[in-house]
Amino acid sequence: MTTPEISALPATKVRPHLTQNEALLFEKSSPGKRAYKLPPLDVPAVDAGALLGDAHRTNVAALPELSEIEIVRHFTRLSTWNYAIDLGMYPLGSCTMKYNPRVNELAAHIEGLAEAHPYRPDSLAQGSLEIIDLLQRCLLEITGMDAITLQPAAGAHGEMTGILLVRAWHQSQGNPRRKVLIPDSAHGTNPATAAICGYTVENLKSNPEGGIDIKALAAQVDSETAALMLTNPSTIGVFESQIHKIADILHAQGALLYMDGANMNALVGKARPGDFGVDVMHLNLHKTFSTPHGGGGPGSGPVACKAFLEPFLPIPVLAGKARNKRTKEQGNGAQEDKGLRWEYDRPQSIGRVRAFYGNTGMFIRALAYILANGPDGLRQTTEDAVLNANYIRHKLQDLYDLPYPTPSMHEVVFSDKRQAAHGVKTGDIAKRLIDYGFHPYTVSFPLIVHGAMMIEPTESESLEELDLFIDAMRQIAREAEENPDLVKTAPHSTRVSRLDEVTAARKPILRWRQP
Ligand SMILES: *Cc1c(COP(=O)(O)O)cnc(C)c1O
Repeated sequence: MTTPEISALPATKVRPHLTQNEALLFEKSSPGKRAYKLPPLDVPAVDAGALLGDAHRTNVAALPELSEIEIVRHFTRLSTWNYAIDLGMYPLGSCTMKYNPRVNELAAHIEGLAEAHPYRPDSLAQGSLEIIDLLQRCLLEITGMDAITLQPAAGAHGEMTGILLVRAWHQSQGNPRRKVLIPDSAHGTNPATAAICGYTVENLKSNPEGGIDIKALAAQVDSETAALMLTNPSTIGVFESQIHKIADILHAQGALLYMDGANMNALVGKARPGDFGVDVMHLNLHKTFSTPHGGGGPGSGPVACKAFLEPFLPIPVLAGKARNKRTKEQGNGAQEDKGLRWEYDRPQSIGRVRAFYGNTGMFIRALAYILANGPDGLRQTTEDAVLNANYIRHKLQDLYDLPYPTPSMHEVVFSDKRQAAHGVKTGDIAKRLIDYGFHPYTVSFPLIVHGAMMIEPTESESLEELDLFIDAMRQIAREAEENPDLVKTAPHSTRVSRLDEVTAARKPILRWRQP
């Protein structure tokens, strides 16, 4: 990538944005450099040590010292090393890495919303509360459920909240019950949730189509089963067509059906969990409803439930009705028309699951997305997401093994079986995709597919981008046969290639030490 003259320079002399050879801030530091300048002191100096006592730090940490532009350039350069949805397709299955429309950002940055303080009295926060109220009503319409909380900060947090509702309801019936059933295809957060809520996890084996084995389920559900946690469409991208039957089997034993709604991008505008027997579910606004995603958040994992679980929702719950602006203008009804308010007095509530009301900025973005699309637009989105996944499936199925013949919904799962014959595994193919300019797909998940390659294009991608991805995948399949070592040592175009991931995870070096 560099010309011969440049590559002849010693590494430290080449501009770091060309080589990605960026030193640490500690290494760039020179004593006395500052990014700010304070005006001269115009009050009598005091001894901070005497004022602060024990809280006064005498041993100052060896923080790096740099000028403002050095700091700005350092972080700007680092930011360009990241792959992002704004650079290209991000086919990470189960994650719904769709485009974050700019109109969402515009709405979320309106000053009165972005600067709203959570301690404002309800009477002065009616605009923010109306946004929350409208989003809640939209999500209830989309899911077919009766009540909702927007508090949880992510999908996994939503799962925990949902299973705590299940537990509180069983408890109110006299017995919290002992176990939660989870299919072997589930996302790892499902068993983690059940365990953290005090349940024993019981594994449900998938049938040959990758769905729930109805007979096995009927045999396994008993009076100690609190719930089944089910992802629909499942993590192999298949719609659970027996969902009604599954709900009936659980309900007959007094058990509840929890739906992991991470895959709602295949259902919005088409089918409603509330109509097919689900009692409680979570949504991932950062997946299905286009709020930014990745890098650790902030996310949002609303939990929707049927009416009988409503008394247990986390406090506070939004109550009242949006102010009727017309009666206010006419000067009558102002007494009764108090508008929306947070209600705290709910004796059966599981309590708070988060400070304040949830990630409000995400609510604004999700609502902007829902309103900009409208009902027909949301339905079209779902259809396009499913079409895109099936287009990829059709264009790659002659080269990559399809472990399940069942039609795909919004994502397609291949396996590395044919490439593994040449020693090339799913992780190698994923790393080679980086050389072709794509983010890898999801590797080795779901666990029921050996060597899984899970691809979710979302509706965001154009036919041209899908074709580029397909070309890359077809080329890699050829390389796996003709030059497997090239794939097994990829990526070749990055600053670092194969990291020791195990050591990096088990013995991370998080602190820089003065040499
Ligand atoms: C993403 C995902 C989750 C967890 O959601 P987070 O928002 O990442 O906590 C749970 N289940 C499935 C199937 C998912 O894809």
